[in-house]
Amino acid sequence: MNTSAVDEVVGLCQDLLRIDTTNTGDPRTTVGERVAAEYVAEKLADAGIESRLLESAPTRANLVARIPGADRSRGALLVHGHLDVVPADKREWSVDPFSGEIKDGYLWGRGAVDMKDFDAMVLAVVRDWHRTGYVPPRDIVLAYTADEEAGMEYGSQWLVQNHAAEFEGATEAIGEVGGYSYTVNDNLRLYLVQTAEKGLDWLRLHASGRPGHGSFIHDDNAVTALAEAVAAVGRHRFPVVVTPTVRAFLEQISEALHIDLDPDDPELAIAKLGPIANLIGATIRNTANPTRLEAGYKDNVIPGKASATIDCRTLPGEAESFLAELRDIIGPDVEIEHVHRQPAVETEFGGPLVEAMGAALRAEDPGARTVPYLMSGGTDAKAFSTLGIRCFGFAPLQLPPDLNFAALFHGIDERVPVEGLKFGVRVLDRLLRNS
Ligand SMILES: [Zn+2]
Repeated sequence: MNTSAVDEVVGLCQDLLRIDTTNTGDPRTTVGERVAAEYVAEKLADAGIESRLLESAPTRANLVARIPGADRSRGALLVHGHLDVVPADKREWSVDPFSGEIKDGYLWGRGAVDMKDFDAMVLAVVRDWHRTGYVPPRDIVLAYTADEEAGMEYGSQWLVQNHAAEFEGATEAIGEVGGYSYTVNDNLRLYLVQTAEKGLDWLRLHASGRPGHGSFIHDDNAVTALAEAVAAVGRHRFPVVVTPTVRAFLEQISEALHIDLDPDDPELAIAKLGPIANLIGATIRNTANPTRLEAGYKDNVIPGKASATIDCRTLPGEAESFLAELRDIIGPDVEIEHVHRQPAVETEFGGPLVEAMGAALRAEDPGARTVPYLMSGGTDAKAFSTLGIRCFGFAPLQLPPDLNFAALFHGIDERVPVEGLKFGVRVLDRLLRNS
């Protein structure tokens, strides 16, 4: 392979990290998506690739492009990445989160692993193809999206609702979060390929009561009722449910690590997985975490209403039974409002593309073995899968054995290993050439 994609990926990623694309969740304070999309458009145009900027609202820019393949009768492969990032508080970081600094073998910055690293890899690979006149085997559709970090309303969801034609014929997709390594020993690294995602249900609980003076005896207080419901939800542990993806993951990981693991009672074994335990722990049960509270306006006035937000994540096939269980915990008096809902997605770990992922990884890392996994968070795959596209998380990265990768997502001092990034470019190039 021409080395220039590997050479330029770090610079491209640095450029992207220096464009502050903080998505606060409030359109008024969300910045940079348009600037970043224009940057990508310019880098594509440089290489002779035409793209379209599609704005869902002022500055909320998404970019799409189609690279024609050799066999246009085949279904296209969608390669997607979001350009927005979650906020970063400079004071908490050891470097400026938007400086794109390289230090200790890492490229630092908000978005370094989520997910400007992959954005840059894709850019590097397709630019290289165009410089060398390479035509991929089938159409590649590129999508760089806005608003992944705050519900996707201005990004992938808007794209599939308003510009579905851009994705016409796409049968499969790759994006975040998967393809990264988990080191078992010198000769064995597991690369986790995401084949499923939990569903998302942001709920608002509303309690009502009788308003009144804070100095009186009062037995119908909305704050008290809400607090009881919130505490009950927050302390509840939902039962273990092992889905097909998680079962396959657990079987493979227990074999690789030589741990005795009962797939129906996997909690103990998961605790032994070290850095990825937290990531996997949330994939064997539904979760409901209280995140916001709202009530009252004066210290001595009992308000008539109180509300709280619960961030719920459900396993594939579990959305309804989860709600019934939640209703039981909350009791009949607190009202449940669905603020934002996205279904879980799951696809099979099999087929030519999955085989090509394994082959591309093994060509660059002879100790690579791919395993499927379910992700507890949500990505743009949720929106794209509504078009009938099989979505995989595969943004290849080789990681140092001791790096707590999961903690870097939305974390302080987010950073990506420079060598891992270059490795990712080589793997991605191989995969796309053989897809
Ligand atoms: Zn992300």
